[in-house]
Amino acid sequence: MLSVNAIQTCYGPSQALFGVDLTVEAGELVALMGRNGMGKTTTIRTIFGLTPASAGEVQFAGQNITRLAPHRIARLGLGLVPEGRRCFTNLTVRENLLATANPGDWTQNRVEALFPRLAERRHQLALTLSGGEQQMLAIGRALMTNPRLLVLDEATEGLAPVIRQEIWKAIAILKEAGMSILLVDKTLNELLPRADRCLILEKGQSVWNGHPGELGDAVKDRYLGV
Ligand code: ATP
Repeated sequence: MLSVNAIQTCYGPSQALFGVDLTVEAGELVALMGRNGMGKTTTIRTIFGLTPASAGEVQFAGQNITRLAPHRIARLGLGLVPEGRRCFTNLTVRENLLATANPGDWTQNRVEALFPRLAERRHQLALTLSGGEQQMLAIGRALMTNPRLLVLDEATEGLAPVIRQEIWKAIAILKEAGMSILLVDKTLNELLPRADRCLILEKGQSVWNGHPGELGDAVKDRYLGV
């Protein structure tokens, strides 16, 4: 479904990615891992055309999207839950959901069934939500685009343990429903049991790709600082 081949990406004169490869097959949950500053967010920004690659290629559903504008990439069926959530704070919960809605199985009702707190807060401004509720809204907003692939950058960062569990439960429901997911998260004990495959970045390069069960202590120690 998604194929990223040898991408290199720069922020002005500063190069952040030096050759990242990754694939996500239909229905897979792929974990994108690496220590702070290794290029996970930049990889996601490159996939979505927010910081386009200077070399390499991104293909989605057989189409080369490397140089497409972000809104066109989103319309092809890539849904993003960005780091820091970035809800539209001056809109209500409902308005946030409707703002990105595309026709499909994911409707306001289905999102509210996944996250009942959003139903309770339907008419509240997103500004007034807790961090966990904003993350639920960010996931709901991405689902409302009816994506074929959902990408979450820092799925549970900074959230209370009880809210993290709600987010992980929702991710499990999405996977069960057949959603393809690319996910960044630092809580390996939650992430690894749920992932079909893991990819590790080190200094802007892909250095390891495999099944979570193959991820030995030496690799964890070397690349993840565990
Ligand atoms: P974290 O886990 O801390 O979010 P990350 O793995 O997502 O880190 P990136 O945010 O992609 O890493 O950063 C990769 C490299 O690119 C880092 O060296 C970072 O300093 C640099 N970088 C990120 N954003 C910018 C920017 N806007 N301008 C210049 N350099 C940047």
